[in-house]
Amino acid sequence: MALLQISEPGQSTKPHEHKFAIGIDLGTTNSLVASVRSGQPDTLPNSSGEHLLPSVVQYTPDAIVVGAVAKKNQIEDPHNTISSIKRLMGRGADDLISQFESLSEVLPFEFAVTDSAVAKIKTVAGDKAAVEVSADILKVLKLRGEQSLGDKLEGAVITVPAYFDDAQRQATKDAATLAGLNVLRLLNEPTAAAVAYGLDTGAEGIVAVYDLGGGTFDISIMQLKKGVFEVLSTGGDSALGGDDFDHAIAEWILKQANINSRNLTASLLRLVLSEACKAKEALSKLEQVEINIQFANDNSWTGLLSRDELSSLIDPLIKKSLMSCRRALRDAGVEKNQILDVVMVGGSTRALRVREQVGQFFETDPRVDIDPDRVVAIGAAIQANALVGNDSDGNLLLMDVLPLSLGIETMGGLAEKIISRNTPIPVSRAQEFTTYKDGQTAMAVHVVQGERELVDDCRSLAKFELRGFPSHVAGAARIRVTFQVDADGLLSVTAKEEVSGVVASVEVKPSYGLQDSEIEEMLKASMAFAGEDKDARSLREQQVEADRVLEAIDSAVADDGDEMLSQDERETIQAARSELMIARHNAVETQQLKEAMAKLEKASAEYVARRMNASVQKSMAGHQVEEFNK
Ligand code: ADP
Ligand code: MG
Repeated sequence: MALLQISEPGQSTKPHEHKFAIGIDLGTTNSLVASVRSGQPDTLPNSSGEHLLPSVVQYTPDAIVVGAVAKKNQIEDPHNTISSIKRLMGRGADDLISQFESLSEVLPFEFAVTDSAVAKIKTVAGDKAAVEVSADILKVLKLRGEQSLGDKLEGAVITVPAYFDDAQRQATKDAATLAGLNVLRLLNEPTAAAVAYGLDTGAEGIVAVYDLGGGTFDISIMQLKKGVFEVLSTGGDSALGGDDFDHAIAEWILKQANINSRNLTASLLRLVLSEACKAKEALSKLEQVEINIQFANDNSWTGLLSRDELSSLIDPLIKKSLMSCRRALRDAGVEKNQILDVVMVGGSTRALRVREQVGQFFETDPRVDIDPDRVVAIGAAIQANALVGNDSDGNLLLMDVLPLSLGIETMGGLAEKIISRNTPIPVSRAQEFTTYKDGQTAMAVHVVQGERELVDDCRSLAKFELRGFPSHVAGAARIRVTFQVDADGLLSVTAKEEVSGVVASVEVKPSYGLQDSEIEEMLKASMAFAGEDKDARSLREQQVEADRVLEAIDSAVADDGDEMLSQDERETIQAARSELMIARHNAVETQQLKEAMAKLEKASAEYVARRMNASVQKSMAGHQVEEFNK
């Protein structure tokens, strides 16, 4: 008898009504995809069981490699291997030049000089905008979602930091479009974390979300009231995270080993950093770890790092994060003792010292029961599931706030705020303006974002003109400017001259965002998108084929490899097998998989032929040859 699936009343929809949706945490260091299946939200692993996809993309002349393999290749191919791309999302070429000094440390690649306002990175596969690189990460996650769910996706919820401005949100949406994803909603990361903990359905109150990732720290103070989540304030430090822990440990190692970092080659320095990172991660389980580094043939260092020593190294960094917490509390007008829950997010909150210090600061035990790496993706999946209508109570109403004030330029280059920061969204606000000169029949509207008084100190989002209204004496025209921010945090602005009814409006395409034509071009360029379904299917077919080949070779070698293979042959086959294994998990192009398969077939051709002969001989044994010729 077949097993019947039984669910709680109202927990899941009938199978034929079920729609598949995914939640994506598109992180600076790592990305994840999650979904709700049989009422249970969870992150989806790749076929080797890894949930985290390192947000690293390597471009080679004929392949795009994403994830763990790309991360590994970064040491040898730093110029074509792109990491931390999230830091460049929605940032223009101008922006980057001014930030280049601080960025060049984390971003070792070269920027291309182009006509576009958008910064592009030079690679052997052409110049890549941040949106394209992010799209390549999203494609892998989308495919993983489709493969795990075995169906077409209705859409995705993608998370973004709460402080992301309009341009950064738009860039994230563009990347998703380029990856062929239907974006149901952009969701703030802290909101997603709170949803994962079910805080949206629990007691009303104020929660703090402490998110310490690889390179960034974010703190958000949120309030739940009548089923509505409101972000009261956000803060943080865009240059504070686990990478800084690694640096502090690396410095300690070099000091112990009596080595001046200036005398180290770049790749040795990277080695020290990666050993430091390994030690750090191990110390959340162990009291102390041994570190062993080979600096040169005749120069190696071995030492012990204890948890206490680690604490003293990272304490100053944790203190820095707590100062941001204090500021965020002040911005929100909230006292520490009003905080009901502190939710821990991000891989670096695995460090026990971080948990301890945060607990002491907020005077409460922080919530760590959901894996801090996965909590954001899980919240996004819950929200996605609700948005496509699988959640029968489906009224999960989430509210975020505007991270930065929005306004327009007025005479004298001043910024007049129309919606101030931390206003819950979606929101619509209007304000009336008038003309400055007699007989004026047009007016320029310059939309800006930021907290500063002068337009020059704010971020320019868009400019448009309202033309052709009747001439009035100065100050008599009544021009109503309406700002509307949707649930994704994206803005549209309308200006209307009230007497004549002349209207002009603009969907704000941030000045540093991609032009529609550029997006179109990328869409065209992106083969995977053009024939997306077809490509995805053929890739999937090839993956199944690769699995079959891998399984066949493994079982053959296990069966008779010992007697039938020379050491040499075995090694050649093993190498081709590993290559296919890697391609199986990372290839985004069918061709790459086909090539790896052909290689393995070639490497094992003689062995396979020998086996066939042997098996033919075996089955013929004891029979007359004539029997086979009938
Ligand atoms: P992001 O949000 O920036 O993508 P993650 O939340 O994935 O980043 O966090 C990545 C960081 O977490 C890395 O610096 C990594 O070394 C760190 N990390 C992971 N596991 C541990 C651990 N057990 N102890 C301390 N740090 C950890
Ligand atoms: Mg994160």
